[in-house]
Formats: sequence, C-alpha cells, structure tokens
Amino acid sequence: MGSITKVSGPVIRAGGMRGVQINELVRVGDMLLLGEVISVKNDEASIQVYEETSGLRPGEPVDGTGAPLSVELGPGLLSGIFDGIQRPLDAVREKSGDFIVRGVTVPSLNRSKKWKFVPKAKVGDTVSQGDILGTVAEFNIEHKIMVPKGISGKITEITAGNYTITQAIAKIGGKDVTMMQKWPVRLPREIKEKKHFEPPLITGKRIMDTFFPIAKGGAGAIPGPFGSGKTVNQTDLAKYSDADIIVYVGCGERGNEMAEVLENFPKLMDPKTQKPLMQRTVLIANTSNMPVAAREASIYTGITIAEYFRDMGLDVAVMADSTSRWAEAMREISGRMEEMPGEEGYPAYLGRRLAEFYERAGRAVCLGDKPKRSGSVTVVGAVSPPGGDLSEPVSQNTLRVTKVFWALDSALSRRRHYPAINWLKSYSLYGGELREWFETNVSEDFLEHRNQAMALLQKEAELQNIVQLIGPDALPDKERLVLEATKMIREDFLQQNSYDEIDAYCTLRKQYVMLRTILHFYDKASAAIAVDMPLSKVLEAPVRGDIASLKRTPEKEVEAKAEAAIKSIDKWFAN
Ligand code: ADP
Ligand code: MG
Repeated sequence: MGSITKVSGPVIRAGGMRGVQINELVRVGDMLLLGEVISVKNDEASIQVYEETSGLRPGEPVDGTGAPLSVELGPGLLSGIFDGIQRPLDAVREKSGDFIVRGVTVPSLNRSKKWKFVPKAKVGDTVSQGDILGTVAEFNIEHKIMVPKGISGKITEITAGNYTITQAIAKIGGKDVTMMQKWPVRLPREIKEKKHFEPPLITGKRIMDTFFPIAKGGAGAIPGPFGSGKTVNQTDLAKYSDADIIVYVGCGERGNEMAEVLENFPKLMDPKTQKPLMQRTVLIANTSNMPVAAREASIYTGITIAEYFRDMGLDVAVMADSTSRWAEAMREISGRMEEMPGEEGYPAYLGRRLAEFYERAGRAVCLGDKPKRSGSVTVVGAVSPPGGDLSEPVSQNTLRVTKVFWALDSALSRRRHYPAINWLKSYSLYGGELREWFETNVSEDFLEHRNQAMALLQKEAELQNIVQLIGPDALPDKERLVLEATKMIREDFLQQNSYDEIDAYCTLRKQYVMLRTILHFYDKASAAIAVDMPLSKVLEAPVRGDIASLKRTPEKEVEAKAEAAIKSIDKWFAN
C-alpha cells in the first residue's frame, strides 16, 4: 500500500496510504510489525506501532489489513495471560525464545484444543445476535456460545461434539458459525439497555462495603502514592469480591512490579472454590520492556474481554493497575505525533478517553432473548498521582467519571493502618441506589449505623484539631469518649489485615454485627457519662477486649460472641 516517511519512537508516519481507515491494523516495514492507524490526513497516516520500532527505515512498506484492532473471544480466554494486544505471553515466548521477536504472528486463542460443545438451541430455531447456541464447560464457568454480530436466521445445523474454536458448530441463515468471535477493542459491545445499580459488589472489606460501597456495574477509582496499597487492594478485590470473572490489566509501575504480578497471580487460590484464581481470570500484562502503544491498547483489550463475559449474563470485575501508566503511554504517543499538548503535557482528549473507558462499566440487559439475562462490568482503576497530589490531570479526570473514590493515604500506610483508605476523603455515590438492598438484605439499620460511625469519625477529626492545641485532658469526658469510640472504629473495624486468614474477608452480616457492637458500647457509655460515670470507669470495661477480638472470630461464632458482648456492655453500664 504505502511506505514509511518518518519514524519517531513508537509512532511512524507513512505516505501513499489512500483508503486506509482510522483504527485499521497495519503491517509496518520489512519485519511486518503490528501497528494501528491513529490519524489520517489525505494519503498520510500516523501509525502507533505495537512493537519496538528500532531499525525501521523510511521507504519500507506499510500495508493495511482491512480490519481494526480486535480481540478473539471464545473458549480458552480463562486463565489466559496476554499482552496488551492479546498475544498470549507463553506462546510468544515459545515461538520466539525468551524475548519477544518482532513481527511474530500468534493466534490469541488456542486453535488446536478441542472443547465439548453442548447445544442449547436446535435446528429450526430462529436466532439473532446474542442468543445462546450452547455451552462449553471451562473450569467452573459455563462459557456460553453466543450468536455473533452479523448472523441471524434459522438454524439449519447444530451438533453436539468436540470442536476447536474455528470449526463450525452450527449453520445459521446459511452461514457457518464457530465458537470464536472477534470484536474491535475500541468499540463497546452492544447491549439491550443499561440497568439501575443494584446489588453491591461485595468485596469483604469493611471500609469498602459498609462505608463506601461500589455497585455491581459501578466505576471506582483507587488513587494513592507509591506503596500505599493499590496493588494489594486490587488483588484482594480480584480474589474476594463476588464477581464471576476477573480481568486484571497490569501496567507495571516499578520495573519488576509486573513480573511480581505474573509470578504471584498464578499462585493465588480462589477462596470460594479452593481452585486457582486464574481459572476465572484473564490477565493482561504490560511488562516494562513492552512498547507504550501496546500499553495504550491494553485497557481496551481488557474491557472488551470483560464485556464479552458480561454478555453471557455474568458479573465481571476489571482491575486496571495503574491507569496513570496508561495515561502516560497516551501522552508519549500524543507527543510523538506533535499534537497540541494540554495540561501537564497530556493530550487534550485525556478526559474524554478516561470517560469512554469508565463508561464501559455498567449493569446491562444483554442482547439475546434466548434466554433473557443481565450481566455487569465493574471497573476499578488505580491511579498513581506523582507525589500523591490529586490535583494532577489523570486524578482529576478520573474523579469526574467514577462514582466511588477509595483514597489511599500514605500517612495511614506509614502507621500500618491497612487498608490505608482515608475515611474522610473517600466517598461513594452509589449509597442512595444501594440503600434499599442493604436494608433488605443486611439490616434495616445498616445505614443508620454506618452514618453514626461516619459522624463520629468526622467529630474525631474536629476534636483532634483542638487536642493538638490544648491537649486531650482539657476535653470534657463526653468528648474524650468520642475519641475512644473512634479509636475502636478505626482499630477494631476499619483496619483489616489482608494476610490474616479469618480477617482478610468479612461477610456483610459480620460487618454489621461488629459495627453494631461498637456503637452499642458508645451509646451506653455515652448515657453513663451523662449521669456522671467517670471515663476511667468506662475504659475499664473488660468487654473492650472482646469487641477487639471480633474481627478474628470465625463467621459462625461471631453472632453469639457479639450477643455476649452486648449483654456484658449492658451489665457494666447498668451499675
Ligand atoms: P502500591 O501498589 O500502591 O505501590 P502495594 O499494594 O504494593 O502498593 O502495597 C505496598 C505494601 O503495603 C504491601 O507490600 C503490603 O506490605 C502493605 N499493604 C498494603 N495494603 C495492605 C493490606 N490491606 N493489608 C496488609 N498489608 C498491606
Ligand atoms: Mg502497585
């Protein structure tokens, strides 16, 4: 088609490209490197190249492929580890030795493996996009084979059996249908309609579920400086949250961080099944030696795969760690294209790109009536603002489009208060929509307790200002009690150790019971102080130790232990 006129790092310019489409995949140079057209002007195209461009020379050929950058969707995705453009890391390594050789073409999904296809539709049925033709058991997941876009009509053939993903399993409207379909990554997969937000994604982390809940299909951000717990929290969400499928997009921060994720993830066990977590995970890994353009694409690759599983009627959670590295890739490419830079050198479209990404989260009625179903994609993006300063553009644009904000705080992580989520700076805008769910499914007064605890924590912050000026002894007992109660809320409720077998995951019921007990103590103590019980007597109550041990109490014993604690509180303050 055309030829290279200029090479600038990951971006090249090519002339003679008349007819090429924006977002079209191209082969660049004699090495046939993969690239994507990102702008076209007359017959000149700017192309981001997904592979290292050193050695490319002006004059070398550039050829269009006629197709946009797409992912392969079908059986074999689960437990897969891919790069940003869905090349399987293992297969690339096998084919090209230890490091990635350029221009290598490997299929994303295994072409030779056979899967047992069980039809759920029959000859004579009339089907259209999204209808379920059958299923394949992939680990514990029932992988639904759906009618792909562009196919509809009467089924004339459909047969149970063992097939590879490229063999026809059915004939519909005269066309062969296989178990694999393709989808362009930059285009959201279609749904019938969006649904309201309910229920919550249950994370098992008290500060998330009770204080700042995220809805299934919601969008959340977890910003924090280096070492504050972004990766630990996202890994915990992958492990413990009640999503069916996890898509983890890693854009490594430090040089070896992605290597750690690649090493660590395959070892994680799913606490629900005691099987490897990878069996319901797709991992997209950008190691630090991969070109920035692949990192730019990886977010789209990840979310498209998530939407595909959503379309089966599953709840999917996408973790992106860290979106700041993704934005930096965008900045570098924009700079190479000599676009007009916006704030801090980021392209002017940074905000739009972030919004487009987070808007792909949602709870949806899926396409396809056979059968009717709904699914969700929840997105949680880590943000790593330089120096922890949230006024920078990536944080600001993320805040605008996410409805949950779990603000990690280096002061808390320095004090080893984990998860280091700052309760005064964090928020959730799903509270209203989830209220009824919590009231029905946990307890009528779930939110009342949450709000009372939050009000106490806010009061604590005010009192601390005074304490800093005049010392705690100057406060009346009533206010010193607030400080004691919030210490209990912080240490006995908010703090949660990811490395403790029992405490790592906390059910909603247990969260409720724990907080109720702490607040019962506060209410009773408060009443006692009002009728002149000295604070010293309040603090001698032996039940305080019992309350502190609730977090490490197994779920089935918690209720009885909390009941006993409440009796003991009532007795102590009755005297
Ligand atoms: P980041 O990704 O923000 O750079 P990490 O997630 O790697 O930070 O966390 C840094 C360290 O903080 C971890 O290695 C771990 O020791 C500690 N940490 C973070 N969160 C927790 C937690 N919830 N429980 C226990 N330790 C934690
Ligand atoms: Mg990290």
